[in-house]
Amino acid sequence: MGLSTDNHAAFPKVLRNAVLAFMLGGSLAIGAYGVYSWQREQHEVRENLTILSSFLASASQSFFDSLGNGLVSLGHSLDKSRVLETPEVVRAELEAFQLRYPEVKAIAIFAADGKMLLNTAVAPNQPLPDLRIDPPYNRQLVADFNAPQRYVIGAPEYGKAIQRWRFALRHVVRGTGGEPRFLIQAAIPLEREGTFLHQLPAPANSIIGLLREDGYQQARWPISESQEVYGQPSKGPALRMIQEHPGIRTGFFSGMSLWPGNKGERIGAFTRLSNAKMYAYVSVPADHVWRRWWLHNQPVMIVSLVFLVLFGFMAYRITLRERYHRGELIDQSRRDALTGLPNRAAVEEAIQHCIKMAHSTRCQFTVLFLDIDRFKDVNDSYGHIIGDQLLVEITKLIQSVLRGGDMLARLGGDEFLIVLPTSDTEMTLQITQRLLQVFQKNLTVGEYSLRVTPSIGIALYPEHGEDVGTLLQHADTAMYEAKREGRNAFSFYAEQMGARVRQRVQLDGELREAIRLDAFHMLYQPVVELESGRIVGAEALVRWTKPDGEVVLPDQFIAAAEESGLILQLGEWVLRNVCGQIKRWSAEGVHVSIAVNISPRQFQDPDLVAKIEMALREFDLAPGVLELEITETAAMLDPESSMRIMGKLKALGISIAIDDFGTGYSSLAYLKRIPADKIKIDKTFVDGLNTDVDDNAIVHTILALAKLLEKNTVAEGVETEDQFNTLRGLGCKLAQGYLISRPVPPEAFMRLVQQNGGTALISA
Ligand code: C2E
Ligand code: MG
Ligand code: MG
Repeated sequence: MGLSTDNHAAFPKVLRNAVLAFMLGGSLAIGAYGVYSWQREQHEVRENLTILSSFLASASQSFFDSLGNGLVSLGHSLDKSRVLETPEVVRAELEAFQLRYPEVKAIAIFAADGKMLLNTAVAPNQPLPDLRIDPPYNRQLVADFNAPQRYVIGAPEYGKAIQRWRFALRHVVRGTGGEPRFLIQAAIPLEREGTFLHQLPAPANSIIGLLREDGYQQARWPISESQEVYGQPSKGPALRMIQEHPGIRTGFFSGMSLWPGNKGERIGAFTRLSNAKMYAYVSVPADHVWRRWWLHNQPVMIVSLVFLVLFGFMAYRITLRERYHRGELIDQSRRDALTGLPNRAAVEEAIQHCIKMAHSTRCQFTVLFLDIDRFKDVNDSYGHIIGDQLLVEITKLIQSVLRGGDMLARLGGDEFLIVLPTSDTEMTLQITQRLLQVFQKNLTVGEYSLRVTPSIGIALYPEHGEDVGTLLQHADTAMYEAKREGRNAFSFYAEQMGARVRQRVQLDGELREAIRLDAFHMLYQPVVELESGRIVGAEALVRWTKPDGEVVLPDQFIAAAEESGLILQLGEWVLRNVCGQIKRWSAEGVHVSIAVNISPRQFQDPDLVAKIEMALREFDLAPGVLELEITETAAMLDPESSMRIMGKLKALGISIAIDDFGTGYSSLAYLKRIPADKIKIDKTFVDGLNTDVDDNAIVHTILALAKLLEKNTVAEGVETEDQFNTLRGLGCKLAQGYLISRPVPPEAFMRLVQQNGGTALISA
């Protein structure tokens, strides 16, 4: 069983490991793919941002260059006109220039002294703002007048004329001596729409802009708080990166953005403009990578995760079922298939558990070994199907007596084991008695109503054994003792029983050997007619001669042979031996009828009739020479089937006697129908015939009854003349007993017959 359980365990284990390996591998693969795709995504985002920033840088540079060059040629053109004297004459030209550069919202001309001469954002004849009175503006203007570059890109300022934030591109027109003549200023508002960058394909939530090396924003989109963004130096990660790496051309940054409206973790790339001290940058929220990654890998991730989860779930279900199935198999292997009761293995485990419990709590418990008496007879006469059904009924019967915590198991055949945990002797006795009680009623199995009895052996823990093996063995021994005491009984284990069991086992062995060695012989006890004193037949009685020459009486071994089943072989031997003897006598001219004892088990043997027929045929005898004796107890065990068997024997022509009559419990109803020819009055009643009033009455009654039923009567064990005479007086027909003759060997019997009158009659 251990092996098969291991096998049951191996498969789910292999399955579970395979599933775990697959799930682990799958998870690892998904994880690896996730990491790989994440890195690729990050790389791509960086690359895209870098491309965007460099695109932004070159677009800005070319815008600045183009506008700067435009301003230079505009300056040439203006220089030829009388712009300083009558500025308004160039307004049309300036407006035409603005049309070519839609980003430019206003053009202003400043005289060398800083006075604003014209502003396209201010209508003619309207007052022009004077920047000279505003120190920061004036400072910048003076600086730009003196700047050596062809044009200067100014930092963002609030444009007074256009009334919004803007930055300016300024070009100074100089005279032949290099002295500044006037300055042209193109104002570019800081809104993305209509600027040189508004078509840059930047991702959503991105910020694009130009960052000056001095730390100020040149332009930034989108924008909400212009003053905060443009009015102070930047503090973001991009600037930090640029300042930490002076002269860096392109780079990548990440960090917290502190700009209002865009606070949070951001990543971005920057590229230096080729010809201006500023960087173009693009940044996106840090989770942009995650979003893009999810967008790109969502199907793969979802499908594989769902697959993995589904697979895991299914594998879990399969493993659960497998475990359940395995549990069931183990459960089945521990149960008796017929009754569903725990089997020997299971109950032994339970007892083991009880021992542990009882050991720690110093408690007692009891093991009852229950065996159904003569159950084999039921099987033999009704068949195994009925036998099995009867066992199921017996199970129910036993269960009806047990309490909640008691355990009932079937050890096999008709053997049951009951464990009564924490039961003392008193409680055990009560339960045992109730068990014997419930078995008194008949059990209905199919069309039959059967009555069986149990023999119960009891072993107590710890008195009768401290381990499972000993307890079971001693309960078993006690059960045999109960059987020995006449069945339908219980017995507590006692030390000396062990010795008896050993004797019994030894006896079984000796009997087997005796059958093999033909160590039996038959004696014959004459039966006489009371009236005439003539011998009319004899009863054949078996004897066993042991190897040491001791002759053993049947009382010593018939019960054992009956229990072990050896009686069937012994019975056949007796039958053939007696038939052979009758044949030899008849060859000598003496025709005699012999009674043969049939034990209960033989009587239930389905082959009994066939065996008798065969013996008769073998020795070529008429059936009338044989009489079979069956005890009243055996016949009444199951009267219906007894009558069937007797019917068959009668049909063969064999006569039947009910032996030991008076010791059993014959029902009058059956007695009337039973096809027996003779009733043998048991010796116990004959013994008390002239001394015991009751015995006298019983013999009287039996004789009257026999007369009524028209059956012949034989008195057994007649030992005195008194008994002989009384019986004759009462009308008893036949008698046997020591008074007439002890059982004697065949030759002696023959001599008795010859002395008695020369012939023996075949009894009627
Ligand atoms: P049973 O069939 O009732 O046989 C009568 C028994 O009473 C015999 O004992 C016989 O010796 C004994 N007996 C006869 N007259 C007297 C008497 O006056 N006084 C006393 N004290 N005893 C007397 P036995 O031979 O020891 O047989 C005992 C039982 O063994 C028999 O009882 C019978 O039931 C059984 N038996 C004997 N031979 C066989 C056999 O071949 N097959 C089977 N199945 N059973 C047998
Ligand atoms: Mg007899
Ligand atoms: Mg008898």
